[in-house]
Amino acid sequence: MDNIVIFGAPGSGKGTYSTALVKEFGYNHISTGDVLRAEIKAGTKLGKIVKGYIDQGQLIPDEHMIDILAGVYDSMLDGPGVIFDGFPRTIVQAKALKDMLQERGEKITITINLNVSEDVLMERLLRRAKIEGRADDNEETIKKRFKVYYNQTYPLIEWFKNEGVLSEFTFKGDTNLIIKEIIEKVASL
Ligand code: ATP
Ligand code: MG
Repeated sequence: MDNIVIFGAPGSGKGTYSTALVKEFGYNHISTGDVLRAEIKAGTKLGKIVKGYIDQGQLIPDEHMIDILAGVYDSMLDGPGVIFDGFPRTIVQAKALKDMLQERGEKITITINLNVSEDVLMERLLRRAKIEGRADDNEETIKKRFKVYYNQTYPLIEWFKNEGVLSEFTFKGDTNLIIKEIIEKVASL
């Protein structure tokens, strides 16, 4: 089974490229952001815990995330593979992912790191704010999310590199081109 991590800053297109890979290869898709927003919408106990963190642009504590992830992953074991979108976001989560996969005889196949300049990210997120109305897509919270990304998530690139699973993709103005590059890379695995 393929276990693909899509990695990048807020607004880097993790959801877009995940959807393209699902369409091309029939993978299952875990978007931790989507899972959390669904919990909030359904008014669950977990939803009530996580809402404050998301609205403040902060990460949800690792222990909650790790429990959620294992539950969702186990419902996807009979497909061709799983895309992890928005997880891991900390070194603790990365190690937990590695352990969880190992316990199931699996490993990270590849990490797709999306490089996008910060002005493009901000412009996209502000545009998305108007369309989707996400509470955390306002300029102040976006800036906090960038900070959280650079402090807590960006250092993971080195971890993925050491694991020998890092593959870099740089956005140069054309979404379709980068989709093509990612699909070619995944097809060659
Ligand atoms: P995009 O989806 O456009 O790349 P994003 O990365 O900011 O943007 P999501 O992945 O949807 O958006 O995450 C939204 C929020 O959900 C985060 O700011 C954080 O509060 C919470 N969250 C999502 N995944 C995790 C995680 N793995 N660990 C901790 N918090 C998370
Ligand atoms: Mg997303």
